[in-house]
Amino acid sequence: MRQKTKQWQPQRRRNQRRSRLIVIASRVSLVCALLFLGYGLIDIWLSSNDERYYFTSSQYNGVTSKFVTRDTLIEKTSIEYPITNSPAVNAFVAKEISAVDQEFRQTVQRGSQLHHQQMTQTITYQITLHTDEYISLVLHIKQDTLGAHPTAMTKFWTLRKKDAAPVTTRQLVGDSDAGMNRLMKLVKSRVAAIAQQRGMIANQRLAEDLPAEAFRHFLAQDRNTISFPFGAGVIVPSSYGDMTLAVSVADMKDSLQHPLAKQLFTVPAPTPPTPQPAPAPSPQTAATQSTNTPCANRPCVALTFDDGPGPHTERLLNTLRDKQAKASFFVLGSKASQHPGTLRRIAREGHDIGNHSWNHPNLTSLSAAAVRDDLARTNATIKHITGSSPILARAPYGAVNPIVQAELRSLGMASIMWSVDTRDWADRNSEIICQRAVGSAQSGAIILLHDIHGTSVDAVPCIIDGLAKQGYQLVTVQQLLGVVTAGQEYRSR
Ligand code: ZN
Repeated sequence: MRQKTKQWQPQRRRNQRRSRLIVIASRVSLVCALLFLGYGLIDIWLSSNDERYYFTSSQYNGVTSKFVTRDTLIEKTSIEYPITNSPAVNAFVAKEISAVDQEFRQTVQRGSQLHHQQMTQTITYQITLHTDEYISLVLHIKQDTLGAHPTAMTKFWTLRKKDAAPVTTRQLVGDSDAGMNRLMKLVKSRVAAIAQQRGMIANQRLAEDLPAEAFRHFLAQDRNTISFPFGAGVIVPSSYGDMTLAVSVADMKDSLQHPLAKQLFTVPAPTPPTPQPAPAPSPQTAATQSTNTPCANRPCVALTFDDGPGPHTERLLNTLRDKQAKASFFVLGSKASQHPGTLRRIAREGHDIGNHSWNHPNLTSLSAAAVRDDLARTNATIKHITGSSPILARAPYGAVNPIVQAELRSLGMASIMWSVDTRDWADRNSEIICQRAVGSAQSGAIILLHDIHGTSVDAVPCIIDGLAKQGYQLVTVQQLLGVVTAGQEYRSR
């Protein structure tokens, strides 16, 4: 019995294996045929439509993107739609984008007889706040319709996710005239300070004429900042450039003592009701900023590269050298010690070097002593290699708490965040990275990239050329910001 089985089994196994192979092969060929047919149909549909759709799987604040591109003889368009977990928000934003796109397409149709050049349009978005109940986002719309100037517009809202109802600025300040007046006073002083920084005249009329309706919606730039990121020519003549008017929540705290505002922002305790004159908004930036910074008369943007130096960094440095652009590198201490030659070259060629921790921990999960050890060890390594200790830091994941902030202050370092997230680590697609960087840039922007990814480094020539075409000068973070204060956080100029 035993013997018989032994002889018989290999034969049966062989048969079983053969029939299994046949089943697998037929399944594979069926799937192939279906895929082939499917792609064929999509292809036919695409060529009749000249639109391409694709989705990226980037988990950006829990949001994915849908891209629509059109590339014909008369137009080149790329639109990135946010797909959130709120259908109402998705529909709201899609409707806004469609309205802009419709108008652009009409212009293209009208202009196609006159021009033999492509009109171009890029629409991208940045999300600045995303909670279970609210989302704050800005659309960056750039169009070149071959007129006198390419236009750069923004649209921004803070939306309730349940029904995509925009939270108005008036609701934010507790529906009070006093709150609105205080806010307008603060934004007017910002306009004056920015105009002065850029060497422009900030006359009284300019500030008085700010159209109040432009301030109907706001962006929660972060938990401490209410922001109005206007493109050029929206609230003041376009010669003044983009106007991102940021108001500190602390300066508005007395108007923000209600549940809605507290859901969106970290609101400090109100001013105690003693009859003392309120402190005037201090124009401290205007006092310290001299007009001889490279950004006094020209719009500037700072490219920043995190997590290196790595195998692609030398190639990046070659590109920056060839295109005469400056950048800032937030390096890991551990990587710096592995690539000391590259780090020295970064310093020698005039780029900024900042501290990005030793090995990328979430600093907010560490004790004060551990945060200090990590940052100090990284500073010491950078100083040992380059001869100078950095004064800029960027916390891994942008994760900062009061402990991290206090340690940065005591080490004499400023905390540098970003205003444009290229999401380059998620997509790994140079074309998308370039579109986001160029499409979302505004004067004073700090753009986040990672030089450890080849695709990000590949995108840099396109980014530099695209920004230069819009008149931006590429500078280091220190050139962009001028004097920085230890312990303070910066997201843009
Ligand atoms: Zn990082």
